[in-house]
Amino acid sequence: MAFCSFCNNAIPKGTGELYVLRDGTALSFCSSKCKNNYALGREGRLLRWTSKQAVLTTEKKAEEKKESALAKEIEAKLKEKEEAKKQQEQKK
Ligand SMILES: [Zn+2]
Repeated sequence: MAFCSFCNNAIPKGTGELYVLRDGTALSFCSSKCKNNYALGREGRLLRWTSKQAVLTTEKKAEEKKESALAKEIEAKLKEKEEAKKQQEQKK
């Protein structure tokens, strides 16, 4: 199954459009919307409605979640250390 060169959606057999550049690279488009946007010089990964953009944003969100989880773990460990120090000082 072919995938759209612009939005990365799956193209059902018998539909879509094949666009061949002068240098021989073949681009497949699922719709005239994608073809026209390509002709306007836009990039699919920069547009919100494309699935390429969706893939990129989900990856970014996953990374942010990981980062925040790491930050929380580090904060929790630091608090535990401070509490342990306070307890030791109180014993003295
Ligand atoms: Zn498309």
